[in-house]
Amino acid sequence: MPSLIETNRWKWSAVTKRVRARDRYTCQMCGTRTGPMEVDHIVPRIVGGTDDLGNLRLVCRLCHKRRMAGADAVSGVSEVIRSDYSYGGGRKRGIG
Ligand SMILES: [Zn+2]
Repeated sequence: MPSLIETNRWKWSAVTKRVRARDRYTCQMCGTRTGPMEVDHIVPRIVGGTDDLGNLRLVCRLCHKRRMAGADAVSGVSEVIRSDYSYGGGRKRGIG
């Protein structure tokens, strides 16, 4: 169904336009206004997030990339991993 894809693509570009305007062309993660901006799903589509404006925000490419790298940062998983890391590192004191 090529027409459906076409419609979706058109709809997406309209949506991203609105997100950009709503978020004032500012990255919602780091606050930068420079660099290429991308639209991010707050709740990733893979876990059931929608293309609804309420689930979208504008982020710069760098933040988007960083977010993709830790795709489950939303659920706080990466935070657990990080604290685990610092725990191990913090124990590296030269006692004994
Ligand atoms: Zn950013």
